[in-house]
Amino acid sequence: MAKLNENYSKLPATYLFTEIGRRVAKFKSENSSADIIRLGIGDVTQPIPQVCIDAMHAAVDEMSRAETFHGYGPEQGYDFLIDAIIRSNYAGLGIERDEIFVSDGSKCDCGNIQEIFSTDSKIAITDPVYPVYLDSNVMAGRTGDLQSDGHFAGVTYLPCTAENNFAPELPKSRVDMIYLCCPNNPTGTTLSKSELQKWVNYARENESIILFDSAYAAYITEAGVPKSIYEIDGALDCAIEFRSFSKTAGFTGIRCGYTVIPKTVCGRDRDGNLKPFNPLWNRRHTTKFNGTSYITQKGAAAIYTPEGQSQVKSLVGYYMENARIIREGLQKAGLEVYGGINAPYIWLKTPNQMKSWDFFNKLLTEVKIVGTPGAGFGACGEGYFRLTAFGDRQNTLRAMERIQNDLRF
Ligand code: PLP
Repeated sequence: MAKLNENYSKLPATYLFTEIGRRVAKFKSENSSADIIRLGIGDVTQPIPQVCIDAMHAAVDEMSRAETFHGYGPEQGYDFLIDAIIRSNYAGLGIERDEIFVSDGSKCDCGNIQEIFSTDSKIAITDPVYPVYLDSNVMAGRTGDLQSDGHFAGVTYLPCTAENNFAPELPKSRVDMIYLCCPNNPTGTTLSKSELQKWVNYARENESIILFDSAYAAYITEAGVPKSIYEIDGALDCAIEFRSFSKTAGFTGIRCGYTVIPKTVCGRDRDGNLKPFNPLWNRRHTTKFNGTSYITQKGAAAIYTPEGQSQVKSLVGYYMENARIIREGLQKAGLEVYGGINAPYIWLKTPNQMKSWDFFNKLLTEVKIVGTPGAGFGACGEGYFRLTAFGDRQNTLRAMERIQNDLRF
């Protein structure tokens, strides 16, 4: 009989957002008139920029005529989009056309990238963390079982808490793959240039690869916070970067992202020779993916026009104003908060050392607000809680009023 991939059985049975959904549905069934405000899941709520709509309409019209019809495109992405990405995000950073791979979003890329690494590679992840990095490695068999402390055997966890200012320490023993997410989901914090330099130096000294997820780069508001790992000296030799149009331009339902793999990023083959990772990803991408739709890529490229840049700025600005309202609202209520300045996530310390899930229940039952328990992102997220700035303005303001006036702690 065919056998299952047993690695999947190592994963916890319930997915975080399924459990949140279950609890909210139960509350709703017992309190049918409750006016619930959702500041939990990280999906956007505002329409995509008009330039993208116009570009996609025009692309649909092109599809209606044989002379301008587009069938399969290059799996790696159309040059018009790749060139616009390089011009806007990587000018002067040494990135070339064949080092960018357009995809249908960075969740798949972050999850699939591990395929081009040897299965015995050692991984390091920050804790708390966006779950995809860890789960995809569990599925691939790169970890042992889940232990009673909530950690998988064989994984190097890098705690990120208020005590270390959410800047992880270097691993004590050597690792091959290091996942860094900056701006961070869930903590909403960023790493400074010097912190990132420390990681690049470590990676170069140890022949490790940094997998740098900057899906929220567009939310960086402070000068001096790097948007790309390639702003750091030496990163072209040791870092792969993931970007997404999801939060930049509201593409969560349209789907577009990209991965950058400089040809100078190398690993060792079985004979100990240095070989680049880029051709492996190219091979994987062209074998397993048939390209992001032409219409989508046209929509994505539109954000790099001057008009597109200004529309993206106002979209991001809308959410970041929500972030400010949440940050200041929570502070006014007497809560300790982090993030929300260079990211659409606000990470708060639960009052009176309350457990994350207890705070979730309190918030839901007392003020009818849904957030995300920090413990759902890793053991070090216990005692923290995530709110997102992706709601609409009215609900964000109402949520803060409720917390300030009606939440007792
Ligand atoms: N990376 C991080 C840190 C995220 O939070 C998300 C989405 O929430 C993604 C990647 C995936 O984005 P998408 O697949 O929509 O491009």
